[in-house]
Amino acid sequence: MKLFHREKKPAGAYRCPICKSVYRHAGMAERCTKTAVCRLYNTPPAEVRETWRLVGGAASLGHFLAHPLLDAEPEGSGLYEAARAVQNTTRELFAALHRGFPCADHVRRALHAALMNEVAAIWPPVRFAHLGHVGDVIRSVICDARGEAAARGAGTELLDGLRQLEERVEALYAAIIPEGEADYEQDPIAGIVRLSDAVIGPKPEGRKPSLYLVNGRHLVVGRGRADVRRVMMEFGLSKPRIEGISPGEKFEDGRTAEEIIRTAVRVPALIGRMEE
Ligand SMILES: [Zn+2]
Repeated sequence: MKLFHREKKPAGAYRCPICKSVYRHAGMAERCTKTAVCRLYNTPPAEVRETWRLVGGAASLGHFLAHPLLDAEPEGSGLYEAARAVQNTTRELFAALHRGFPCADHVRRALHAALMNEVAAIWPPVRFAHLGHVGDVIRSVICDARGEAAARGAGTELLDGLRQLEERVEALYAAIIPEGEADYEQDPIAGIVRLSDAVIGPKPEGRKPSLYLVNGRHLVVGRGRADVRRVMMEFGLSKPRIEGISPGEKFEDGRTAEEIIRTAVRVPALIGRMEE
């Protein structure tokens, strides 16, 4: 029988990345809270963590789509340039996150690993993934992430970065599917909902519900677009076109969107249809 040995590290082999205090286990060093700076880095406030999850997650997904093309496509080709534009934006977004939302490596690594687990569940690395399907899912998730970041009141720098990421990912998707007609069978919606949930994170229960019009017909109450997609998925509606309706907008019967939202028994929910 083959014997395995765990690598023995002398006591005190692990150090807090900030204050350098020594610990017996790596996990303990990563959770060091000896000084105020350790606390801030190792156990960052929710806002820092959730911003990395959302904005960092969107940037990681842009990278996931663009990165393989830089190796596979000749420099100067349309696809290569579109992919490089996406990469430039993801790099700027990460730089902005590092400046504004500092935290320890292990915090970011854990968030990234969780997102990549979701990605691997949709596109197992051993199987061929159609780049059109990958692009279709990721462009929608980035759109959801930008909407969520705006709703959370993220700063201008991040919002501008996300807007640029969305535009450039759309342009890259258009370069991947030049005929505007995708030639893959898979429905993108399950992947979109899964990854939207992953980057948006624990349900933002505190957020006020909004009213959305789907495909110009269905009225859905939800907290963000990912919520709306989840509802429409239950009805088997793929690729929903989602428009937000502002709370003050009036309907023919005189009710405002806000009043209609209040009639929803639960959130998210499909609450009605527009009459033709
Ligand atoms: Zn420390």
